[in-house]
Amino acid sequence: MNDRVVDKDMKQQTKDFDAVIVGGGVIGGVLALQLAEQGYRIAIIEALHHGLGKTDPERVIALSYGSRCYLEKLGLWKAISDVGLGHIRHIEVREANNHGLVQMHATDAFLGDTQSGSIDALGYVVEIADMVAPIYAALEGKVTWFRPAHVEAMQHDADGVSITLCCNGETLTVTSSLLVGADGTHSQVRRMAGIGTHGWDHNRFGLVASVRCEHGHADTAYECFRSSGPLALLPLADDRFSIVWALAPQEAVRMMELPDRMFLKRLQRAADESVLPRSGRFESLGKRACFPLEFRVAKAYARSRIVLVGNAAHTVHPVGGQGMNLGLRDVVDLLAVLDSPLAKKDMGNPLLLTAYAEKRRADVLAVGGFTESMLAVFGNDLEWMRFLRSKALGAMQTIDPLKGELLRHASGITQLRKCSLVQLNQVVRYESTENVEKTGGDV
Ligand SMILES: Cc1cc2nc3c(=O)[nH]c(=O)nc-3n(C[C@H](O)[C@H](O)[C@H](O)COP(=O)(O)OP(=O)(O)OC[C@H]3O[C@@H](n4cnc5c(N)ncnc54)[C@H](O)[C@@H]3O)c2cc1C
Repeated sequence: MNDRVVDKDMKQQTKDFDAVIVGGGVIGGVLALQLAEQGYRIAIIEALHHGLGKTDPERVIALSYGSRCYLEKLGLWKAISDVGLGHIRHIEVREANNHGLVQMHATDAFLGDTQSGSIDALGYVVEIADMVAPIYAALEGKVTWFRPAHVEAMQHDADGVSITLCCNGETLTVTSSLLVGADGTHSQVRRMAGIGTHGWDHNRFGLVASVRCEHGHADTAYECFRSSGPLALLPLADDRFSIVWALAPQEAVRMMELPDRMFLKRLQRAADESVLPRSGRFESLGKRACFPLEFRVAKAYARSRIVLVGNAAHTVHPVGGQGMNLGLRDVVDLLAVLDSPLAKKDMGNPLLLTAYAEKRRADVLAVGGFTESMLAVFGNDLEWMRFLRSKALGAMQTIDPLKGELLRHASGITQLRKCSLVQLNQVVRYESTENVEKTGGDV
């Protein structure tokens, strides 16, 4: 890759940028790209030499339709989708061993909306590495990379930020008006800025793996709530499912150790009638891995000349598949705030950063609150709660305005509008995957 990776001269002098971004994941990368394209001088400090690459099992993300529109606007979507995407055309939500089922279809996405149109999928399933690669390609020549690198020290005052970093064994200093923490859940920037977090450990692990089943997935994503935690099955491009199965620690250990055949039997039992009639038996299994599941929200998204985006600002349970989508909306809101004459003079102006923090709070609390309340409601084993849950799922399935609202949230259309990515009178109609007809202006 022909990046402007740190050169000899740079090792001997202090380099100045408008913004330094720590963390070159999807969120840091997308932010860097847009800022660089606006003419800002941007540096990225990334811990890994080549960034987040292919893993086995795959690190899979369900992107909402809203996120697709955004990535399309950035010119990244084609490269991401060319690698192969799972399409979520149907979603089924149910509780194991209880009545009540919600079924959502892409064709109904604008249900109850007078400015009706249709979309080809409610969401898309993509490997994180397949998002990172096109972003890095688009960044080529536009930003200064420091990788593999890590921050050793940082200072910030009213005039700017100074960061001492170690890159390829060399120590150097960079300065900037703004420092962005895009370095994930355990953000070093957040820690160094002295910003604490609210939240808790779920005392659960998300077991991820891919499975192939007898009849394929029919473009359907399943969310099956169980008292021990939800089991999600996402449709991959090659007709396998990617699973995220929330398990208590001891159960997670047992499930990691079971031979494949036994594991598939247990999974089949857990997936229950929600999947089996259509998909048939689970037949083969890829590698398994576990991630700790937690809910963390930074106590402040901005401090002095430092701002947090993506998982550095908030880590939500993967049950709703919202983490990445939320992070992309951070980027949209930060860019909106930075698109001002004040920012042209001083990107790290604390007034702007406070405005960003204010802007993000409601969305993060809504997503975090919804996710956590779903987990609490479905984690309760009381008989009357089970009864109420089945009634609530039944109501969502049958009452059109309620279901319409749910569909617009699941597909990210509501949030898309709040982010001003589409105006209310703009509708994107997907007649087929390739054939995109836009009415009423650009998205
Ligand atoms: C099991 C599981 C399933 C999920 N499923 C979904 C889903 O379906 N949909 C969805 O929207 N979200 C999902 N998420 C959440 C999603 O993965 C995250 O929200 C998203 O990856 C956050 O992106 P990010 O760029 O903020 O952080 P990350 O993806 O964590 O990237 C951080 C980057 O910073 C680098 N870095 C870290 N520390 C440092 C440091 N000190 N110095 C320099 N660089 C550093 C890392 O190498 C990396 O490149 C899931 C998460 C889990 C755990």
